[in-house]
Amino acid sequence: MVDSEAPLSVEKAEVAIIGGGIAGLSTAFHLTRAGQRGLVLLDREDQPGTYASGHNAAIARSLTGRPEHSALTAEGRRRLAEAGLLAPTGGLLLAAEAGGLELLEAEARSLGVEARRGPDCPLPGLRAAEHLAIPGDGVLDAAGLLRHCAEGARTAGSELRYGCAVTGLERRPSGFRLETDRGPLDAETLVLAAGAWAGPVGRWAGSELAFTPLRRSLVWSGAAHPAREPWVWWVDRPFYFRPESGGLLLCPCEEVAVPLPERGRQPATDAAVLEGLYGSLHELAPDLAEIPITRYWTGIRTFAPDRRFVVGWDPKVAGLFWVAGLGGHGMTSGLAVGALAAERFRHPCAEGPLDPSRFGN
Ligand SMILES: Cc1cc2nc3c(=O)[nH]c(=O)nc-3n(C[C@H](O)[C@H](O)[C@H](O)COP(=O)(O)OP(=O)(O)OC[C@H]3O[C@@H](n4cnc5c(N)ncnc54)[C@H](O)[C@@H]3O)c2cc1C
Repeated sequence: MVDSEAPLSVEKAEVAIIGGGIAGLSTAFHLTRAGQRGLVLLDREDQPGTYASGHNAAIARSLTGRPEHSALTAEGRRRLAEAGLLAPTGGLLLAAEAGGLELLEAEARSLGVEARRGPDCPLPGLRAAEHLAIPGDGVLDAAGLLRHCAEGARTAGSELRYGCAVTGLERRPSGFRLETDRGPLDAETLVLAAGAWAGPVGRWAGSELAFTPLRRSLVWSGAAHPAREPWVWWVDRPFYFRPESGGLLLCPCEEVAVPLPERGRQPATDAAVLEGLYGSLHELAPDLAEIPITRYWTGIRTFAPDRRFVVGWDPKVAGLFWVAGLGGHGMTSGLAVGALAAERFRHPCAEGPLDPSRFGN
């Protein structure tokens, strides 16, 4: 006989991670490898990479111009190479105006990243006053990276639950009650790695931390282009490109605030970005100025108010841990961010430029 008055048993987890893009997966991977048990990762989509982690340019760029990020991108690049997930094509940072690369060169020196500065661009047909060649940078295997983290996390004991949306959160004396479309789950601690949705999901948990989702487009031209060239990125112009699938992947680097898209969708495309792209091509790479565009699409990069990553325990909401706001460097830094998150999770320390306590809310 079933007692209809008896409370339904609620599933329990020690740690619940919301979000199974690179932020959540790498955190799960590193936390379980460090010995954490009872970890359940929930993502509402059927597979990883439905949003930013599957809609990016896959450029491994170790120098970002922000030392607090470059420590992680340089370490992330090292880990990508170690895991066989990096094609070391090299990278070329260009400055249209002289003096634009000094900061990045200093960053390379302080991080021990090999970088060579010079006036004459090693690739023909590009307009730049100076360049910084980074031979160890390259193109990362985005799908392979997500698989690497997912398989590593599963093997070490995490449960990865894709196709499971968190629809609400309630704070409890000993943790959180997560409402999901597969039933409730009680978790002692909660890791928020929900990408563009980090802000709204955080509000359910009682946090006021706000993030800004910004649309960025990627453009592919099927016009034949040599496959083994480095990626090329102007630091003082909104433009980069790299070889992809026999053609070229180009980025007009727009930053447009957009509403969060409907589930499974990306922000709508806007043909106006192509005008900006052709303007950049005319100015900076005139040999490519007539290149045909085969297709283009969008993705979302998500930023905290000061545009720094957010990694650490929430100062106000007990039991809430953030891995969010990875902006435009989440794929390169992902393996290092997950390692940092696992370290901070297990050994709390409200210090450093990425700690959420900097917002004081
Ligand atoms: C156009 C573009 C180009 C880029 N190029 C590069 C590049 O070249 N190199 C680089 O290093 N980085 C690049 N980036 C940045 C990088 O892609 C991001 O920093 C990174 O993917 C962010 O990962 P994430 O896990 O935080 O977010 P996401 O990948 O968006 O993952 C968040 C997950 O949370 C889940 N979620 C949200 N809400 C809920 C809920 N209620 N319940 C359950 N699950 C939920 C979502 O389904 C999603 O899977 C680029 C980004 C864009 C958009």
